[in-house]
Amino acid sequence: MKRGSLIIVSGPSGAGKSALVGHALADLDNLEFSVSYTTRAPRGKERDGVEYFFIDRREFEARIAAGELLEWAEVHGNYYGTSRRFIDDRTGRGTDVILDIDVQGADIIRRKRPEAVGIFVMPPSFEVLQTRLTRRSLDDAEVIRRRLERACGEIRRYHEYDYLVVNDGLDAAVRDLEAIILSTRRRMSAMSGAARTIMKTFGGTHAENP
Ligand code: ADP
Ligand code: 5GP
Repeated sequence: MKRGSLIIVSGPSGAGKSALVGHALADLDNLEFSVSYTTRAPRGKERDGVEYFFIDRREFEARIAAGELLEWAEVHGNYYGTSRRFIDDRTGRGTDVILDIDVQGADIIRRKRPEAVGIFVMPPSFEVLQTRLTRRSLDDAEVIRRRLERACGEIRRYHEYDYLVVNDGLDAAVRDLEAIILSTRRRMSAMSGAARTIMKTFGGTHAENP
């Protein structure tokens, strides 16, 4: 069976990654969210095991030591990390996995899994980002200030990604993200199994050399 793909989504905090990924997960089959470990406290209605596995620093460090994390990074003073087992289990079953991770984590995953697809999400402007983070009203003013400061550094690395989605109108951005995911599923490398099966009905796989 074909392994599932890794689809990495990064972008500054408040760019709309959660909103976009949430829509893609609801609309597309065979797609699962990579639930990361984090030491940050749950925000709003977040539930353990759904948005994140919420653990303390000691447990996080034990998981690093045990080699359980495919990548990890310190972001906004908290640890965040991707579970190797979670990813391998889903992709092994042929399910595509979407990861919402920062630019440092994306860099590590791309080196370990070069076939991973990278998508960067940008807000239409700094001012819009500021407004969205304030309106989200899940963080206090100091946290928002730090997230905006970090956004300026993070957004500079957009060119390391394969695709760019500008999240101005939500519906259009959702369509863009879903189109990218669907097109990765039709890459020749992803379709080789299906192609071989069809080619057999044409007398074999040598038909590519007429
Ligand atoms: P991230 O996951 O990148 O930190 P969120 O998905 O939490 O960002 O989005 C930040 C805030 O902006 C949320 O309140 C969300 O509902 C809102 N938002 C996301 N996309 C749009 C959009 N296209 N237009 C207006 N508001 C948006
Ligand atoms: P938030 O606290 O807003 O949920 O996430 C803060 C940042 O951490 C975001 O940029 C998000 O993409 C990133 N992040 C979430 N999970 C992981 C992870 O497992 N690894 C890394 N490297 N970054 C993560």
